[in-house]
Amino acid sequence: MHKFLPIAYFEDKFVPFEDAKISVATHALHYGTAAFGGLRGIPDPEDPGTILLFRLDRHGDRLSKSAKFLHYDISAEKIKEVIVDFVKKNQPDKSFYIRPLVYSSGLGIAPRLHNLEKDFLVYGLEMGDYLAADGVNCRISSWYRQEDRSFPLRGKISAAYITSALAKTEAVESGFDEAILMNSQGKVCEATGMNIFMVRQGQIITPGNEQDILEGITRDSILTIAADLGIPTCQRPIDKSELMIADEVFLSGTAAKITPVKRIENFTLGGDRPITEKLRSVLTAVTENREPKYQDWVFKIPLN
Ligand code: PMP
Repeated sequence: MHKFLPIAYFEDKFVPFEDAKISVATHALHYGTAAFGGLRGIPDPEDPGTILLFRLDRHGDRLSKSAKFLHYDISAEKIKEVIVDFVKKNQPDKSFYIRPLVYSSGLGIAPRLHNLEKDFLVYGLEMGDYLAADGVNCRISSWYRQEDRSFPLRGKISAAYITSALAKTEAVESGFDEAILMNSQGKVCEATGMNIFMVRQGQIITPGNEQDILEGITRDSILTIAADLGIPTCQRPIDKSELMIADEVFLSGTAAKITPVKRIENFTLGGDRPITEKLRSVLTAVTENREPKYQDWVFKIPLN
């Protein structure tokens, strides 16, 4: 189903994707003691010999900080350096997704972080739209997002994704495309791998970082772009009922970009989405480096 990029970074070397294999006793496989990132890259539409990576700095920084929760000291610089070399080795010619992972590579059976080897790997795959670009139908999940007192939610920790996996499968098996999870306070939190926004009376509203969301990099970009466009934004707790009667609702993420929500449970949202569409077109232009104002967000990698 996936078309993987031919070269992976594994155990400090670039190797064919098929040769990047871990042991059955790898700690991370058993206990979820890993953390990952996810970046998108595209061939520069203006310059086919160049790859554009969106917000490499922020992604490197987030993964380095996630690694701290695993007691793994890896700098954002090291992560970024390997990612840039990874892109050069693979020479991608289509839109793609990069998956860097820090993980407990030691072989062990006790759940712990100390005295356990760690490692860093990177692989990639070609990726077009992750969710249907014309919009998705969402179920309110019966699974709740973890809370920060029992889980370090500012890390993108692999173990957390069991909740996303349960929620996604529950949604799909009951005829929806995607799930919206509440936080432990019963407020709207996020989707299975995306942040969530709603629009009411011209204002863009999204849960704040203290609402147990993942601190999404696309979310941050959207808030900045919206403010620059003069669209009022607000970060605050959102009730489920507000979402159901919102003028527009959309999801944001590296993979999902901006994906409109068409329906939540049995509440159909309006088909007009002026703000979602405006943000979507500006975000696309930004990632394609067509908006000089945001060129600092786009990292250029010459392939030769
Ligand atoms: N929430 C979760 C749970 C995610 O996995 C992701 C994807 N990384 C996001 C939100 C969106 O984050 P970003 O915009 O940084 O991709």
